[in-house]
Amino acid sequence: MSNDLSRAETFLAIDIGGSKLLTALVSRRAAAQPRLWGVAHRPLSRDCGREGVLAAIESAVAETLRDTGAEIGELLGIGALIPGLADPQKGMWVYAPFSGIGDFPIAKILKERYGKPVAVENDVNACAWAEKIFGACKDVDYFLWITVSNGIGGGLVLGGKVYPGPFGGAAEIGHVKIVENGAKCGCGGRGCLEAEAAGPAIARRFAQWLEARADSATLRRVADYRKKEGLPDDARLDAKRIAELARAGDPLAKEVFDTSGHYIGRAAAMAANIVNPERIVVGGGVSGAFDLLEPEMTRTFYDQLFGSVNKTLKIVKTGLGYEAGLYAAASLLCDARGAFRQDLLR
Ligand SMILES: [Zn+2]
Repeated sequence: MSNDLSRAETFLAIDIGGSKLLTALVSRRAAAQPRLWGVAHRPLSRDCGREGVLAAIESAVAETLRDTGAEIGELLGIGALIPGLADPQKGMWVYAPFSGIGDFPIAKILKERYGKPVAVENDVNACAWAEKIFGACKDVDYFLWITVSNGIGGGLVLGGKVYPGPFGGAAEIGHVKIVENGAKCGCGGRGCLEAEAAGPAIARRFAQWLEARADSATLRRVADYRKKEGLPDDARLDAKRIAELARAGDPLAKEVFDTSGHYIGRAAAMAANIVNPERIVVGGGVSGAFDLLEPEMTRTFYDQLFGSVNKTLKIVKTGLGYEAGLYAAASLLCDARGAFRQDLLR
């Protein structure tokens, strides 16, 4: 293990996604930002099953240890993110709709394999917790975490603990009905925040507006952009590309982000009026466009917030960046004060 690593507290992080798996060591020293070491990727196929997941973990962890020169015995413990439902108390991967994997005692298996304490949690709750341990909420105990990517999810930390709800469905802000009889949502409802504001909604709205009411300047800009990027003439642009057009000054692309920002701000104000949190954090892939969402999001938010009991409340961008999942996995090994969880050793 390198000197830098051996002087720090070091955790093994495993981020199990739907289509890929990442492993890394997360190290931290007092008063310093945590760091990632030896990030390894493996693809996961939808039908890989438990054996495929375990084989990918084994091979990625071996690469992480080889690249960092670390021994498993030097690490404090292992944190794993589950895509779907998890039971952190029992260390179970309960069910993932994407792969069909369920009833999987993954913590027990990893503990037997590596001889280290293991903590597991679903990805959304873990990302919320990671803001407390490593990110933008170290100094507060009551906050709402909102992830905006292909969908919209939420995590709630109350009194310095993740609040999952008695049925594991707390903070499902993506399914707040934000538009009466609006777009159809994956949940079967209509007009959900997720269906109206997430990445696919940004792409859909831009494509519709481009056809219905774009002026010649926007049409020319989009045509030039497609050409520059080597895309077909009729290619539908995703949220990331629309963000590039918005930053380059296209008013229609900006308006699409204004609309998503408006809906997110509205849902955030409803949530804040119920929960009275100290902070709201926005993460996930689309939070890369936080600067574009922010103006309309905060305007709507403060307009609809019950301000007299939420005087200092702010919506801020995630402090975790693109590698949030790995920090989230490592954060599962820490208590609310940020210390290693001694209960995992029992
Ligand atoms: Zn929905």
